[in-house]
Amino acid sequence: MVITKRKGGTKMEKKIDEKKLLSEAKEARKNAYVPFSGFTVGAALLTKDGKIYRGCNIESSVMSPSLCAERVALAKAISEGEKDFLAIAIVGAPKDEEAKDACYPCGVCRQTLSEHVKLSAFTVVTEENGQAVTCTLEELLPRAFVFEK
Ligand SMILES: [Zn+2]
Repeated sequence: MVITKRKGGTKMEKKIDEKKLLSEAKEARKNAYVPFSGFTVGAALLTKDGKIYRGCNIESSVMSPSLCAERVALAKAISEGEKDFLAIAIVGAPKDEEAKDACYPCGVCRQTLSEHVKLSAFTVVTEENGQAVTCTLEELLPRAFVFEK
C-alpha cells in the first residue's frame, strides 16, 4: 500500500505489488498436493489491509472434493474473518516445471470469488513468460450469476 500526501489530508492509495503477489503464489505452489494430475497451482489472495493468504490445489482420489488453490486461499481468509479483497495472483504448471503460461481461475473459482469481491475492482494477476498479466474479475466473469433474496 502506498500513502500519498495531499493538500488538506492524507489520501490512501491501494497499489498492488504484482511481483510480490506472484512470488507468494509461487511459494504456495510448492505445497500443492496433486498425485493425479501432476499440475500444481499456487494462489496468493491480497486483502485491503495488505495481508496475503496463500493457497495451493489439493486433489482427492474422489475428484469432486478436490480444491483449487484460489478457493483454498479464499477459505483461509474468510475463516479468519477477512472480508475485503484487492487481488489474487495465480501461477500454475506441471510439477517440477517453471510456470511459463498464464493461469486463470476456473469457472467454479470465478463464481466463488465473485461472491466476495466487487467484480470491477478485483484484480487477477498471473504471469506469462516472466511478465505480470492483469485483468479484472469482471473481464473473466461477465454477466455473473448473482443470488438475490
Ligand atoms: Zn478453480
